[in-house]
Amino acid sequence: MLKAVVDRKGDESLKTLTINVHYQCNAKCIFCVVGIPDKVKEEKCLSLDAIYQELQKGIEKGCDSLCLSGGEPTIYDGIINVVSKAKQLGYKRIEIKTNGIKLSDKELVKDFSEAGVDIFCISVQGHNTKIHDNVVGVPGAFSHLLKAVEHVKNENKILYTPTCIQIANYKYLPDIAEFYKTINSDIICPTFIEPSGSANINFADVVPMYSQVIPYLYKAIEIINETNIKWNLHGFPLCMIKDYESKSLDVVDKTDVLAGTDIDNYSDYEKVTYRKKELKCNKCSLNIICNGPWKSYVDKYGFNEFQINVNSLTEIFPPQILIRKFFVH
Ligand code: SF4
Repeated sequence: MLKAVVDRKGDESLKTLTINVHYQCNAKCIFCVVGIPDKVKEEKCLSLDAIYQELQKGIEKGCDSLCLSGGEPTIYDGIINVVSKAKQLGYKRIEIKTNGIKLSDKELVKDFSEAGVDIFCISVQGHNTKIHDNVVGVPGAFSHLLKAVEHVKNENKILYTPTCIQIANYKYLPDIAEFYKTINSDIICPTFIEPSGSANINFADVVPMYSQVIPYLYKAIEIINETNIKWNLHGFPLCMIKDYESKSLDVVDKTDVLAGTDIDNYSDYEKVTYRKKELKCNKCSLNIICNGPWKSYVDKYGFNEFQINVNSLTEIFPPQILIRKFFVH
């Protein structure tokens, strides 16, 4: 029962190590949270040996799940070796986060699959060429995406399709929900755009208000709830997602270790570093479990949309969610 409620990727007991192998990318997303200068990107590129060391350190910290991210990890030289090494070291679940462009190559998907990737996390930014290609900044990206998801399904691997909710796509969330159905997504995670990096530079062009997004998001949720697709939400203060508070990664996530740092709980780190609350949150019953809105969002749009909740946590969350959040380590 616990598993059915809180698990988003197959086993809630796993502890995940995330490695950003480099910050190079083959797309030009205007919403990217990275958006750092080329020189810094080069400096932040890890050597294969450095990655192997991080994998070993992750094992020593008790991690048994790996997430390979970037930048775009599929264009990292030696990425298949990284997956094989992780498998050899005993990681039980390996996920790769990608824009899907390179994965239109069937043989590459097969190579990843045979090396040990269990979850292909392929970002979906729109339900058609016009929106997806525009947001990703690469003509043809949507047709690559369609091939990539087909190859992943043919390999019988888990297809995880997060979407970054932004000005260009929020009105199409119900259409995107229908699209998840047509490509047989196993897991989705609509994520409210984080105004950092390029997304902060392009703030006025990419960041909608939460209150604009919610009606479309709820229509999309209605569509998804008629399917077996597992879903979560990210980047939403809990007061904006009434009735779906238990779906927030603020509530579900807890044990992500970030390689090359001393961050052993990314959710807590994100709360302190990138989220912001105001005094009125002290009177909110959700305060202890809510990470709040993005800091840079509040700096631009203020805090008026967010309203305190007075119901007790036990009225809002099933007991197993609260037990896991506060008592399971
Ligand atoms: S009022 Fe503050 S603490 Fe309460 S749910 Fe909203 S953002 Fe979170």
